[in-house]
Amino acid sequence: MSINRRAFLKSSAASLALAAASGCAHTQTSQAQPHVVVVGAGFGGATCARYLRMWDPGIRVTLIEPNPHFTSCPMSNWIIGGIQSFDALVKSYDKLPKLGIQMVQDRVTRVDAEKRLVHTEGGGKIAYDRLVLAPGMEWMTETVRGFDEGYQAKKVVHAFRAGPDTLLLRKQLEAMPDGGVFVIASPPPPGRCVSGPYERACMAAHYFKQHKPRSKIIMLDGHIDVVSKGPMFKAAWKELYPGMIEHRPNNLAVAFDHKTMTVSTEFEDVKGDVVNIIPLQRAPKLCKDAGVRNDALDRWCGIDYVTYESTSVPRVHIIGDPVLSNMPKSAHVSNNQAKICAAAIIDLLRDRQPEPVPVIGSTSYSVTSDKTSGAIAVVMRYNPEKKVYERQPEGGANPLHSELDFAYGLSWHENIWADTFG
Ligand SMILES: Cc1cc2nc3c(=O)[nH]c(=O)nc-3n(C[C@H](O)[C@H](O)[C@H](O)COP(=O)(O)OP(=O)(O)OC[C@H]3O[C@@H](n4cnc5c(N)ncnc54)[C@H](O)[C@@H]3O)c2cc1C
Repeated sequence: MSINRRAFLKSSAASLALAAASGCAHTQTSQAQPHVVVVGAGFGGATCARYLRMWDPGIRVTLIEPNPHFTSCPMSNWIIGGIQSFDALVKSYDKLPKLGIQMVQDRVTRVDAEKRLVHTEGGGKIAYDRLVLAPGMEWMTETVRGFDEGYQAKKVVHAFRAGPDTLLLRKQLEAMPDGGVFVIASPPPPGRCVSGPYERACMAAHYFKQHKPRSKIIMLDGHIDVVSKGPMFKAAWKELYPGMIEHRPNNLAVAFDHKTMTVSTEFEDVKGDVVNIIPLQRAPKLCKDAGVRNDALDRWCGIDYVTYESTSVPRVHIIGDPVLSNMPKSAHVSNNQAKICAAAIIDLLRDRQPEPVPVIGSTSYSVTSDKTSGAIAVVMRYNPEKKVYERQPEGGANPLHSELDFAYGLSWHENIWADTFG
């Protein structure tokens, strides 16, 4: 994967120069050419920026992202199983500026909703008519005592943001002796990709089966059962990895001792040779500071489900993982929400009524081996009276994994990356 960093930096520099030309206070906005600023170039943010420009080229779009390229969480478990190379996860932002999107390589540190400005780490101040926050997730590592210490000591990672930690987890498994124990501790929903931990167990088992067949995987699950694609995962574990994966439900990790490599739940202490703890999650601090992380538990961002505008801060829209909803927190859903949000923003800016009953689709594939996957597909329609997305009766999970779903899953990845990044 070639990454044209120069194009990215060139467009970032151009945007910053524009800000500087206006006294470094802010870029100008006008309703004739309204300015939408999007924060975070992941599945939600990049899709939203693309569709805003494609559907209404009269809108100026600035996309702010600290990283020079994107690393995909979907397919990252494949690295754990050794069935894919890390390069396949890295996606270029090169095509986005070609659509006229101004890319700024920086991190947003503050939203001034009153002045309609975002502040960046690099000292930029960028004005907006409408702001879209799509910064993904933050991990509540403080809910697992000792996690941060273990992380500093490089003994434990969650690897639920794809990157160096994904590779570290793979290396830890490579270094584990045959006959060792791999502990995966996962939280109850809502959270990012609830099927991810079970897929990860499959991938670790796939690797162990070939190279360390006496090894074992213990899943400490914070939920009362396998959250997603349950019958499929259980059947696949029995068929492909008999006796290797032990699923212990209702067993949320609350502490980790990196000196003894022990995970504690309310009920038991479990020692592992390699430990992977995925803590509870919430919308990032940026959302809290902006006043949009506003639910009773101080975890998620309440939105109007038609426009994705915050229920507490006008002109600020939130999409993707940070949203308070009953929708899955997935790349597919973030990508769909981004299009609904883009269409609604265009309607609002052009004095039109946004579509009152949006419909969202979600398809998710989980690999169970290097040849097989399970799949689930659901459709959710917004019910304006109940103010909730209702799952339509059609759809659901396939009961068994298959080679056909593996092929479809491969295409799904290619399609979602193309639809998000061009
Ligand atoms: C192991 C694993 C497997 C998965 N598999 C699937 C799958 O098969 N299918 C599926 O649909 N989903 C899958 N997911 C879930 C999916 O990755 C997430 O739900 C999705 O990435 C959420 O999209 P997002 O746009 O909300 O956040 P992200 O994609 O995380 O993007 C957020 C972006 O915001 C940027 N950002 C953060 N803070 C700032 C800031 N202050 N300023 C500027 N930019 C900022 C980040 O750098 C990042 O680029 C998986 C997740 C994991 C962990």
